[in-house]
Amino acid sequence: MFIGHYGVAYIVKTKASDIPLWLLFTSVQLLDIIAFTLVLLGIEKASFVPSDNPFFRNYLDLPYSHSLSGTLLISAIVLVIFWAMDKKTWAWILGSCVLSHWVIDLIVHTPDLSLFFGSSKVGLGLWHYPILTYILEIAFVVIGWMLLKKNLYSYLLLFLMVGAFTGMVFAEEPPIFREHYVLRTSIVLIANLLFIFVAYLWDRETKSQRTESGYRDSRYIYKTE
Ligand SMILES: [Zn+2]
Repeated sequence: MFIGHYGVAYIVKTKASDIPLWLLFTSVQLLDIIAFTLVLLGIEKASFVPSDNPFFRNYLDLPYSHSLSGTLLISAIVLVIFWAMDKKTWAWILGSCVLSHWVIDLIVHTPDLSLFFGSSKVGLGLWHYPILTYILEIAFVVIGWMLLKKNLYSYLLLFLMVGAFTGMVFAEEPPIFREHYVLRTSIVLIANLLFIFVAYLWDRETKSQRTESGYRDSRYIYKTE
């Protein structure tokens, strides 16, 4: 799954409003961020293969970032970091968000996700139905997005996500991307980091709106007393 993971972050945010959205975004997409980084370092592999199905245009070999064993380890590291910072509720929530990525990937991937660092590959293969996958990913993100309070950055974020994903699914991939996996991987990594950055701006805007209204309320209380 590509943008659908962010739907999980939106839904979690409605229940855990004190956790910044950018942190939830980073957690749900941490496995992909690690995968892209490992691909750029030559440790994992993601390269172009021709296919009519846009979801099958990747040869993937991700034994560390996308194995169940690797996922449990990464989740545990996130949990320990936030636990050590005395943010115990955040630790459980963010650790679970990391884990959610693998569970959702399991539904969509064809058997290329290993259970233990490269062995016993699994995947339920929703990608065999590309239009259904596309609709579900968009629906998941839009429904999650609708649950939160909007501002300019929230609209920008939705536009960027839906636009990038729609382009990925329906547009012809430029030849330069097919030939250069480093460029291809870098673009996807940058797109994800951009989503996280805009989520950070969304958080900041929400916080300043809250502070402003708090200030107005306190003035109001002062005047009426
Ligand atoms: Zn993934």
